[in-house]
Amino acid sequence: METKVVTSINREVSRIGLGTWAIGGTMWGGTDETQSIDTILKALDIGINLIDTAPAYGFGLSEEIVGKAVNEYGNRDNVIISTKAGLEWDDDGIHRNSSRSRITKEIEDSLKRLNMDYVDIYFIHWPDSSVPFEETAEAMNQLFKQGSIRAIGVSNFTPKQMDEFRSFAPVQITQPPYNIFEREIEDDVIPYCKNNKVALMTYGVLCRGLLTVKMHEEYEFKGDDLRKIDPKFKNPAFKQYLNAVNELDRFAQENYGKRVIHLAARWVLDKGIDIALWGARKPEQLDAIAGIDGWKLDEAALAEVQHIVRENLNSQSGPEFMQPPQNK
Ligand code: NAP
Repeated sequence: METKVVTSINREVSRIGLGTWAIGGTMWGGTDETQSIDTILKALDIGINLIDTAPAYGFGLSEEIVGKAVNEYGNRDNVIISTKAGLEWDDDGIHRNSSRSRITKEIEDSLKRLNMDYVDIYFIHWPDSSVPFEETAEAMNQLFKQGSIRAIGVSNFTPKQMDEFRSFAPVQITQPPYNIFEREIEDDVIPYCKNNKVALMTYGVLCRGLLTVKMHEEYEFKGDDLRKIDPKFKNPAFKQYLNAVNELDRFAQENYGKRVIHLAARWVLDKGIDIALWGARKPEQLDAIAGIDGWKLDEAALAEVQHIVRENLNSQSGPEFMQPPQNK
């Protein structure tokens, strides 16, 4: 497993982290606890040492399952746990709330569910424009100083928002979306982070399963699966994305003896991202990770990937569809 010393958080981290949103079940058509625990244990066994979760993933269920799995694994200090704050839910659904009182309550609830006495990285899940960043940042800094969190992160923040937040508290790491089809952060977030020594842990490396060969036009998403509302999975766009995936797969096979799933992860890592989150809920979904190490994409290969995407897509949509509503 490829690792990297991420200086801003002072840890050696596997460059692939396990994402556990689907393990929470909500917006992913349900979950299976035994299979989820097996997935987390397998991730740890193959050398993944970072697990990302959030209270919003299954309204606490993902954190509970992560806690059970890490407890069973038994080596908590060697595992880097990232979780999040700043989303609240009620009968009307999820909305943002990064107030001091919400954050102070959330850390307690998360530590209880995880059955841990600290988290390694604590992210503000989405920027909340209804609360001054000063209040949110000071609440996070207080948790940092008292030791219940070991690094402060922000997720889905623009450089301007990070700049403002950082005038009140340090930000060691950020978590934006990034993959071959969703490259919005290239012009601003990535250079900002490189210039300001903010580590990058990106999500959606497989574009929610699109960057694998299992998708086809008749693929059925069950229950509340968020891909039902993702414009990429609706025709005519879906057909174009599938054509691009087929060509990327052919490119990976012909040039590296790899598949599109390996190419998708290699691409994010070779673009200079510190850690790419890989969402999985079945142990066998981690098998492809073995095919990521030991090769690299050079500039010409990165350009060819871009060319394939441009040739196949008339228009591209980003991950905006998953933004939670603002505070009430
Ligand atoms: P992702 O990693 O791009 O895709 C995950 C999905 O891809 C899986 O649930 C699975 O779908 C499919 N998949 C995984 N391995 C596969 C394999 N070997 N073969 C075929 N399909 C495979 O997307 P993500 O889960 O949305 O993102 C990763 C993580 O980032 C999340 O779990 C979460 O921790 C984090 N995240 C954070 C934010 C944020 O706002 N900060 C937002 C989104 C995600 P099926 O199980 O349905 O087959």
